[in-house]
Amino acid sequence: MEAIKRNNSRPTDPGLRRARTPSRATVRLLVCMTCVIASPAFFSAPAQAFAGSESGFGGTRFVSASESGGTAPGDGIAGGDASRRRGKRAAAPTIASFSLVANALYDEGRPLKLRYLVKARSRTIHVRAVVRTAAGAFVTTVDLGRHHSGVRQIAALTKDQLGVSAPGDYKLRLSATDRSGRRAARAARVPVWLAFSYSDHRFPLTGSFSWGGADSRFGAGRPGHIHQGQDLAAAEGSPVVAPYGGTISWVRYQADGAGWYVVLDALDGRDYVFMHLQAGSIEVKPGDAVPTGKLLARVGNTGSSNGAHLHFEAWTDGPWQFGGKPIDPRDLLENWYASAPGGAQAASAKATAATASAAASSSPLD
Ligand SMILES: [Zn+2]
Repeated sequence: MEAIKRNNSRPTDPGLRRARTPSRATVRLLVCMTCVIASPAFFSAPAQAFAGSESGFGGTRFVSASESGGTAPGDGIAGGDASRRRGKRAAAPTIASFSLVANALYDEGRPLKLRYLVKARSRTIHVRAVVRTAAGAFVTTVDLGRHHSGVRQIAALTKDQLGVSAPGDYKLRLSATDRSGRRAARAARVPVWLAFSYSDHRFPLTGSFSWGGADSRFGAGRPGHIHQGQDLAAAEGSPVVAPYGGTISWVRYQADGAGWYVVLDALDGRDYVFMHLQAGSIEVKPGDAVPTGKLLARVGNTGSSNGAHLHFEAWTDGPWQFGGKPIDPRDLLENWYASAPGGAQAASAKATAATASAAASSSPLD
């Protein structure tokens, strides 16, 4: 009897025991699954709609927001008639977030990046972006394709895709439809339009700077030669960026003159030269194709230089030092400066702030 009892409670074949008796973990899993299946949320929306949501179980948030008035933080649904919403709200897709990584787009520069999240009951959604000028004129509709709902997306759009060819201010709106053709509403804090600017050029310095006085101008006298560029006084380490897309043709060091310098063969037909750059700051090498706005180097005081500044030259009618000739770049720089993305006013405030300190220096920067 004793032996039989022992056999019943402890089978000699461990494999048989595992097959017949659910382990503690399996029991726990079954209990969990029972809870999930019993939950109304499980029936309310497919799992796909919640992938990538912020909370661990996004479905609960989505459903509660939809059925309690649509005003839960982050999931609220703006606008619409309450009675109509009660019937259809749970089914309507929602643009839960929409933003731009940066709002300045340059010719040959990085594409404009959109971040967005569309929640929907259907597995996939079809998303489009509508582009208009800041004044409201229609530009184009960009098809962003069909993809999973409930998953955060990043779309990178070039200026050609966005249909922008004239420099200026534009705006962008997102629209999404589910498989049944229902158009997405927007969550409460999601903007209708996002503004961006497009420019085919950029001022070569970012941050504070000063135009300096007469000694900083093109044509100013220097011992044995004339000044072939425009000096822009700026703090050592200020970023120097490509004013136009192109190819880097030279990166050299000249101890008794230009110091560290870079030459850009730009797509607008000119060569641009950046001198006295900070040692070790140059980010490009000859042959590099660079987009407008690419960080080239940082302002320095190398070579024959009396203080941190960017010596900027513009060459036309042929490559730099191979048949070309330097032109006074002041008008060009002022135009770039005035049309700086973000508004000339912002740039103007920065320039004014730097002028006072630079004006104290009486000797040419060189
Ligand atoms: Zn100079």
